[in-house]
Amino acid sequence: MNTVLLIEDDLFYRRQMVRALKGRFPDMAISTAETAEEAERMRAERSFDLIVADLTLPDSDGGHVEALVEAGERVIVVTSHGDDAFKKEMSRLDIVDYIIKSKESRFEYLLKLIGRLMNNRDKTVLVAEDAVTVRNLFRRLLGVQNLNVLTAADGKEALEILEREDVDLVLSDYNMPDVDGLELLREIRKSRSMLDLPFIAISSDKEGETVATFLKRGANDYLKKPFGKEELLCRINNTLDTLDMLSKIRRHAVTDALTGLYNRHYFYEIAPEMLAHAANTEREPLSVAIIDIDRFKRINDRYGHLFGDRVLRTIAKLLARGLRQSDILVRFGGEEFLVMMPNTDEKRAFVAMEKLRSLVENMAIPLNRGEQVHVTISAGISEAGSEATLDGVIKTADDALYRAKASGRNRVEMYTNRK
Ligand code: GH3
Ligand code: MG
Ligand code: MG
Ligand code: MG
Repeated sequence: MNTVLLIEDDLFYRRQMVRALKGRFPDMAISTAETAEEAERMRAERSFDLIVADLTLPDSDGGHVEALVEAGERVIVVTSHGDDAFKKEMSRLDIVDYIIKSKESRFEYLLKLIGRLMNNRDKTVLVAEDAVTVRNLFRRLLGVQNLNVLTAADGKEALEILEREDVDLVLSDYNMPDVDGLELLREIRKSRSMLDLPFIAISSDKEGETVATFLKRGANDYLKKPFGKEELLCRINNTLDTLDMLSKIRRHAVTDALTGLYNRHYFYEIAPEMLAHAANTEREPLSVAIIDIDRFKRINDRYGHLFGDRVLRTIAKLLARGLRQSDILVRFGGEEFLVMMPNTDEKRAFVAMEKLRSLVENMAIPLNRGEQVHVTISAGISEAGSEATLDGVIKTADDALYRAKASGRNRVEMYTNRK
C-alpha cells in the first residue's frame, strides 16, 4: 500500500485525510484527484496500490466506483450518507470496505483498515469448502482484502496443504465429504493451538448445535450461513487483529527493550528444557557463559548514561554477530549478558568467548567530536553436567566470572580451572 490515490472533491476533507495518512504512514506516496475524470487521467499514467474514492463527485454519482472495481482496482469508498440502500449497493461491489464521513472523524477506521491491508500481504488463509461457487466467492472476497488465499475441496486436501504451506488462518465449512470441518479442526488442534493457527468455522442454521461444538473444540470463531460479506470480513479481521496483538505482546514479553536481545524471562522459560536435553544426551554438552562489561560504571560516569546505553547496544550487536545461530544470547542484567551454548563443551565455549572478548577489545565506539572509546568484557564459563541445576550452573559460571575480574579483567575463565 505504498501508492494511494485519493479521489475527493471536498478540499477540506481531502486535506484532513492526507494529513491523517501521512501521520500514520510516513512513507506512503499519496496522489489526489478532485473528479472522476482527473482520476482516470492519473490512472492512465501510473498504477496505485489502493484507491480511496468519494462516492459523489462533481462529474459522477457513484458510477466511477463500479468502473474502478471492474478495472480490478482495490477501492475503499467514502460517503456522507450510509443508509440501507447504499449499504445494499456497496455489498454488490467487490470493494475493500466503505467509511461514512463524519465531522469529528479522526480517520481511525480508515487508518486501521489500511494497516490491516498492509499486514494482510504476508498472511495466507486456507479455505476448505466443497462447493466450488462458494469457494470462488471466498477467494475473490479475501483477495480484495490483500490476503493470499489457498483453497481445498475437503478436509483431507486441507490437511495436505497444511503439511506443506505456511498458513495463518483456516476458514472451513462443516459439511464436506471424507474429512468434515469438525474432523479437520480436531486434526489441526492435535498439534497447533488457537493462537498458533486460528480456525473460523462455517455452518448453516440447519445444523443446530454445531457452532457450540466447534467452539468447544477450539474454533476461534464461526460464521453462520447465510452470512453477509461485511460479517465475514469483520470476523476474519478481528481474528487476525487479536492474533497480531498477542504475538506483539509475546514479542515484547521476551525481548529486552534497550538491546533487542532476549530477556531474563525468556531465559528462564527455555533454559530448563535445554538443560534437560543436555543431561539426556551425553554427547551434546551444554555450556553457559556470563559476560560482564569491565568498569562500566566509569563509562557512565565519564560520558553519561545515554552514551552508556549506546555502548550496551553496540556490544549486544557485536556479541550476537559473533555467536552461532544455535546459541542463545540474553541480556541477563544491567551490563551482564548470558549465553547458552548447546552442543558445546567447556573448552569449545572458551574458544567462543575468547573470540567475543577479542572482538570487543578491538572495537572502537565513536563518541562525538571524533573521540573514540574502548571497552572490554570478562566472561565466566561453566559446562552443565548431567546432574546440574539451573541455579547451580549460573552460580559456577558466576564464580568463574569473579575470578576473571579478580585476575585483571578483559579475561575469560572456566569454572573447572579453579584452584
Ligand atoms: P566491573 O568491571 O567490576 O564489572 O565494574 P563495573 O563498573 O562494570 O561494575 P558495577 O557492577 O559496579 O557497575 C555496573 C554499572 O552498570 C552500574 C550501572 O549504572 C550500569 N548500568 C546497568 N544497567 C545499565 C543500563 O541499562 N544503561 C546504562 N547506561 N548503564 C547501566
Ligand atoms: Mg463529494
Ligand atoms: Mg561490569
Ligand atoms: Mg555487573
